[in-house]
Amino acid sequence: MDIDAESGINPNFDYPITSSNPSSSSSAVLSPPPRPPPVPSRYENQKRRDWNTFGQYLRNHRPPLPLSLCSGNHVLEFLRYLDQFGKTKVHNQTCPFFGMPNPPAPCPCPLRQAWGSLDALIGRLRAAYEENGGKPEANPFGARVVRVYLREVRDYQSKARGVSYEKKRKRPNQKGALPTAGATQ
Ligand SMILES: [Zn+2]
Repeated sequence: MDIDAESGINPNFDYPITSSNPSSSSSAVLSPPPRPPPVPSRYENQKRRDWNTFGQYLRNHRPPLPLSLCSGNHVLEFLRYLDQFGKTKVHNQTCPFFGMPNPPAPCPCPLRQAWGSLDALIGRLRAAYEENGGKPEANPFGARVVRVYLREVRDYQSKARGVSYEKKRKRPNQKGALPTAGATQ
């Protein structure tokens, strides 16, 4: 069941999709073209990248896995594979910090993908699948087993980390967060 970690997939995704990392935005803004073409939204870009990532995952799959044979269980394999790149500490039930939002010391519990990231990812892949010609009734990202898995991850992570996801959704004060050039006071 385990996916070989060395299957050559580039792990450098922005999988923390927690919407609060503006540091990775555009780098070189030397001479902007006079009329830039319409820029695809961030969501569309992310969706395309996710879809490419998943395609790459399928191509590296052993045995080979054509998209048409991809089931909800394969989607779960993919999500578990992504956990190795996760950055969210999820305490084991035996950890003394289980349920503490801000543990006072390090512990050996694993880092995982946050539920919110996985949930958003599945939403984008589900849309991309149909945009790329997949039939809605065969959409593996909409499979029941995937919904159940996401619900379990959410419930477990909210217990393990002592946070309610409703609270966590609250956005930090966004004032000044946007790099609006030329609009300084
Ligand atoms: Zn722990």
